[in-house]
Amino acid sequence: MACGRRAAGKEAGFDIIYAYAGHDMTLLQHFLLARHNHRTDEYGGSFANRLRLFREVIEDTKEAVGQTCAVAVRLAVDELMGRDGLQHDGEAHDIIEALAEEPDIWDVNLSGWSNDSQTARFSDEGFQEHYTGFVKSVTTKPVVGVGRYTSPDTMARVIKSGHLDLIGAARPSIADPFLPSKIEAGEIEAIRECIGCNICVMGDNTSVPMRCTQNPTLGEEWRRGWHPEFIPSLSHPDPYLIVGGGPAGLEAARALVQRGAEVTLSEAGTAWGGRVTLESALPGLATWARVRDWRLWQLNQAPNVEMYLNSPLQASDILEFGMPHVALATGSTWRADGVGRVHRRPLGFLDPDRVLTPDDIMAKGASAVTDKGPVVVFDDDRFYMASVLAELLATAGRDVVFVTPAPVVSPWSETTLEQDRIQRRLIEKQVRIIPLHSLADMSPETLTLSCVYTGDTQEIACSTVVTVTTRRPNDALWEDLLAAKEQWDDAGIRSVRRIGDCYAPSLIAGAVQSGHTYARHAGLEEEPEPLREDFGHV
Ligand code: ADP
Ligand code: SF4
Repeated sequence: MACGRRAAGKEAGFDIIYAYAGHDMTLLQHFLLARHNHRTDEYGGSFANRLRLFREVIEDTKEAVGQTCAVAVRLAVDELMGRDGLQHDGEAHDIIEALAEEPDIWDVNLSGWSNDSQTARFSDEGFQEHYTGFVKSVTTKPVVGVGRYTSPDTMARVIKSGHLDLIGAARPSIADPFLPSKIEAGEIEAIRECIGCNICVMGDNTSVPMRCTQNPTLGEEWRRGWHPEFIPSLSHPDPYLIVGGGPAGLEAARALVQRGAEVTLSEAGTAWGGRVTLESALPGLATWARVRDWRLWQLNQAPNVEMYLNSPLQASDILEFGMPHVALATGSTWRADGVGRVHRRPLGFLDPDRVLTPDDIMAKGASAVTDKGPVVVFDDDRFYMASVLAELLATAGRDVVFVTPAPVVSPWSETTLEQDRIQRRLIEKQVRIIPLHSLADMSPETLTLSCVYTGDTQEIACSTVVTVTTRRPNDALWEDLLAAKEQWDDAGIRSVRRIGDCYAPSLIAGAVQSGHTYARHAGLEEEPEPLREDFGHV
């Protein structure tokens, strides 16, 4: 109990210390579970014996910390494994009943992590309520629970209904560390609401610095001294022109405006948000629009920004405007030639009249596929996009075949804890899945696939192929400006930079980060060197 004493008030100053049996990786949970605990002494066997260590640890922890801080107990009340695991209407219920008044606070959740931290694509806010609902009826102690609670309205409903006493909000606090104080101040619109994408979880799972799609300062508070809410004002707030109103352009504009610069934001399309607006219309991704909406709300409050839709800019326009600083946030375009990880050269056999890309489907929906025959979604991107498009097309009644050189659908989605849910959903949608195959040939009604190990080929019926492989930066404007570089001085242009996908097609989180970094570095004589830990980041 030395660690308990160290954590307690007198030594480390914590207010709460945990006895943790929340996921299938803690000793306490392993002692509780018959599938792990094979002991034959008084700590194994019967329910009372398996409970013994948990009870003793809670008692000893309380004794060790005395009155200096509260002792919370986290228990997974369901593992979604049926009778093989803890069940909310089985032993989990019995455990809480047996120890009901022992802890100062009960913290209840689902286990393992992929059940506990579900994404917005697969669960709604409060998705754990069905499992945690009983806890208040068997204890008088306060109960805290999680379930991706992001909206203050839902939080208030859950507390008022007596379901929980406290809201646990890890990801919502990553997206906005000032969530509680904004609720307290009634600044609801100012909350940067978590979108439930699990890019933060990806950082954890790939051992690289964590990123958040909504909050670009995550992980940079200490490394770079970036505060989530405040940015130092510019000492010389020159005017800035941002070209492109996707996540990179919106974040760059927002942060520059916060720093006091006069910003002009120009967007070619009829709506703000770029890829975020397009992708949030795809199945399960509606919450992603919050990336746009929070930034638009901030910009709409600011007096020092001018925003123009329907305004595609060319190099000649930019030279004419003569803004001292120009950021090109013109995004990227999905390739239609098959080039990706497995195909390193354009596939000459692809019939351009029968090939679509994610950009085509996002522009027109399922009606982009005009032919009624089987649609092959070829995924060499290996993250979420191909699976979402397959789901969209299957839901629209199309006969969809999912072909990938990878062994499973969306393997990178392991890192966001979604892979098995994605594959299950496609199976439920009756999408035929052909893993471990690349593309070898195309005829008017067929596609020839090649096994990635043996090269053996097979023909499948196919009227349209949707290639989801890689993206190219939309950098034509950059090239045009570079070609006119000798005119920059006369035009009064001092810097031109590419940001977001225009510089390097990446995650939405990467685009937001890039726009934010651009604004943070504004006014510096020289851009800081990347930090060592930045290399290798997605
Ligand atoms: P990112 O993720 O880097 O922000 P997006 O693809 O989401 O990139 O957004 C890029 C935006 O830039 C799109 O909304 C697109 O309409 C806009 N855009 C592209 N070219 C121009 C241009 N020449 N002038 C103005 N806007 C442009
Ligand atoms: Fe929420 Fe996504 Fe940020 Fe994680 S990365 S906190 S899920 S917005």
